[in-house]
Amino acid sequence: MGGIDRTYDWPKVIVHVDMDAFFAAFEIRNAPLLKGKPVIVGGDPRYRSVVSTCSYEARKYGVKSGMSIAQAKKLCPEAIVISGTLGGYVYTASVLQVIFEHYSPIVEPFSIDEAFLNITGCHRIFNTAEELVMKMKAEIKERLSLTCSVGIAPSKLIAKMASGEKKPDGITIMDRDDFQKAFYPRPVSSLWGIGEKTQKGLNKLGIVTVEELAEYDERMLKGYFGVNAAYLSKVARGLDCSEVVSYEDMPDDKSMSHETTLVTDLSDIDKIYSTLLWLSDKVSRRLRRDNFVARTISVKIRSSDFETITRDKTLATPTDQCRIIFETSKRLIPREYGPKIKVRLLGVKASNLLSKSGENQLSLLSNCNLDKLKLSSEAVDIIKNRYGDAIVKFAGEKM
Ligand SMILES: [Mg+2]
Repeated sequence: MGGIDRTYDWPKVIVHVDMDAFFAAFEIRNAPLLKGKPVIVGGDPRYRSVVSTCSYEARKYGVKSGMSIAQAKKLCPEAIVISGTLGGYVYTASVLQVIFEHYSPIVEPFSIDEAFLNITGCHRIFNTAEELVMKMKAEIKERLSLTCSVGIAPSKLIAKMASGEKKPDGITIMDRDDFQKAFYPRPVSSLWGIGEKTQKGLNKLGIVTVEELAEYDERMLKGYFGVNAAYLSKVARGLDCSEVVSYEDMPDDKSMSHETTLVTDLSDIDKIYSTLLWLSDKVSRRLRRDNFVARTISVKIRSSDFETITRDKTLATPTDQCRIIFETSKRLIPREYGPKIKVRLLGVKASNLLSKSGENQLSLLSNCNLDKLKLSSEAVDIIKNRYGDAIVKFAGEKM
């Protein structure tokens, strides 16, 4: 291709990858008869009330994530509503991680269907950053038959905002000047991390557009938003110097945890559960890799109003099993989260760790079923470590 590489003199080149209509695209790929039809993934039948993800055909009718299924059906009566396949989504996320690592050693999994890659330097191998991204998109399409949209920028913040600009299947290169040009005239809610409540608060101060927020005195904001004022002011100006942190480098000493900020505040229990499963998988794989079992499992939940709670449970038998960590953390989430209180951040933590190499081991083997479970996922880990994730199919059952 050649051409000018716009990223040539950027000190950092960050890529944000966002899978297109991930849950819906996954279901359509597995059931090709759904192709071209308005498809809604509506999740857990017990809570079948909210749209989790929908296909672009359904979006044309105005159907959106978070909307009630009843309302969606009114807008698009011919929509096909199906429940999600959580295990399949988490499995696909692990294949994606392997693909991302072909293009950069520094990959930060950000949510079940999003990741940041620091490709500074790596892109030279592919000539330009854009060509690297095109190769990566082609590999994802070939191996998973799924598309994604990508932002290329000098920071995580701008990369994240850029990936939403051309959906589906787009690539957007955006530096800070482009960011200001594109986002300054837009409402503050178009910024990453600004939800309904914050928007209302800003509107009360007479701040409607991103530009107005960027130019507002930060000290004045502080009176209304406290510690969040600094974030608000920075995000509006497109300032961000946070690093892409690969999962392996995330700090762990006495505990192992993983958390994720959700793209939009979630009221959808299916997305909350799939995110929990994804986090549980990560925590349990790290426990097994480092030969630990955990006695205590905790969840951290932040509401859309920035209120954070943690809940924990100490298990009778310490574990390194994804399924047990997932089931435990699921039960720890208070009922009102999701349906009544929107969720902004979720975290799963394993603490009270015991080394498996020590004498603690004997007590672990008391439960036969548990032991079988342990062996099977250890086997999966070994195969995955040797051949890459793509070779082992996740159980694929519905949860
Ligand atoms: Mg997505």
